[in-house]
Amino acid sequence: MSFSNLGLSDKVIAAVESAGYKNPTPIQEQAIPHVLSRRDVLGIAQTGTGKTAAFTLPMITMLEKGRARARMPRTLILEPTRELAAQVVENFEKYGKNHKLNVALIIGGVSFGDQDAKLVRGVDVLIATPGRLLDHSERGRLLLSGVELLVIDEADRMLDMGFIPDIERIGKLVPFTRQTLFFTATMPPEIQRIADNFLHNPVRVEVSKPATAASTITQLQIAVSRDSHDKRETLRRLLRSADNFKNAIIFCNRKSEVALLHKSLLKHKFSAVALHGDLDQSSRTAALDAFRSGEAKLLIASDVAARGLDIPAVSHVFNFDVPHHPDDYVHRIGRTGRAGLTGTSITLVAPLDVKSVAAIEKLTGQPIPQMAPTAPGGDDAPAETAVAPQADHGRGEHKPRERGRDRHRGERQPSTPVPPHREAGAEKNRPPQRAPKPQPQHDDGDADGSHLPAFLLRPVTVKAV
Ligand code: AMP
Repeated sequence: MSFSNLGLSDKVIAAVESAGYKNPTPIQEQAIPHVLSRRDVLGIAQTGTGKTAAFTLPMITMLEKGRARARMPRTLILEPTRELAAQVVENFEKYGKNHKLNVALIIGGVSFGDQDAKLVRGVDVLIATPGRLLDHSERGRLLLSGVELLVIDEADRMLDMGFIPDIERIGKLVPFTRQTLFFTATMPPEIQRIADNFLHNPVRVEVSKPATAASTITQLQIAVSRDSHDKRETLRRLLRSADNFKNAIIFCNRKSEVALLHKSLLKHKFSAVALHGDLDQSSRTAALDAFRSGEAKLLIASDVAARGLDIPAVSHVFNFDVPHHPDDYVHRIGRTGRAGLTGTSITLVAPLDVKSVAAIEKLTGQPIPQMAPTAPGGDDAPAETAVAPQADHGRGEHKPRERGRDRHRGERQPSTPVPPHREAGAEKNRPPQRAPKPQPQHDDGDADGSHLPAFLLRPVTVKAV
């Protein structure tokens, strides 16, 4: 199946080709013809499946006919977070580059003077988070009675974030006759109820979860004690010895833990940024930009903050905490092993987490192999015996490897290939070499970062949030 068989306009197909996409993904192949024939669609798919293009491409095709009127958007896309909303705008810029579409973004944390001016000129596509949209509409600056097509994206995340009452209010402001596209990664009963309310005779399109589809992810678990010092120390050892490391997302269950771990990793001179709901918009954007550009190698995040974000090619995912919901595990590890690339996920499992792990294994149908426990002796232990991310699900033996870090402090011998520009940047920021001296054995030993591989060292430019 190619893009030209789906009913998309020539201009849209040309933009897709110049984006470098050869074939539609399963969700695109299944959803696009129905969207174009004006059917309501219930799409069960998560990020990484190409679902954004599954609605933006047919929307751009449909918007070629007709014109926008002042303060009356023709289409409305609701997103749970500002980052997701901004990502959808990027999609319209990419796929709509042969069109003259007016796209407006209404999200919290951004001044709405410019957006208001856009609304006055007439908007083809309005992308919004629910709360800010209602603000605008209640002030009379926006009329939703001209909306021909409504997209509700990441509906289950909207539920988690308490947006369902807002969504229901918005549902009363758009015409009854509009077309609705409703996307969700999971289908809990509350989401089923909302879907039944919003959709008229929908076509149901479902694509398999990345966890079951991506056999390119090596999943591992490692036993830890429940003590967070111990967990942080284990994590540091895993990071130092990770194979084929490019970058990693580290997930925590609570935002307080995200902040704590971030602080600790910075103290240990790791190149890390954090993302959680309590950060202001500019810190969130700065963190994401630093991670996307490769300036920061580690992103520490909570599930809510990270859901749906398009962060390409992550080599590693660490679950600092085992997620409470097995679905979240699937979302988390789906951040690696994308598009045929290999990836590794490592889950730290404390004794009380064993039940949660069993639930995950039941959901994915895949046992998560155990890694050998990390070597004892604090951060001075040779990291190379502690992790074997290439574990082939129990088929092979993990040989201890020389990883270029000597047991003795201050004698770092990088053997990991590091791109010259990173090496140079890292060297600049590394503290001066010190003569070996005895260090107190506590959690935060090695805080000078002198043992870190260069790719993990923190460049000074990354904002500590
Ligand atoms: P999404 O699931 O919408 O977050 O998309 C995930 C990633 O897949 C994005 O980086 C898209 O640019 C990319 N993508 C979307 N459609 C295709 C396609 N047909 N072929 C290859 N990559 C795609």
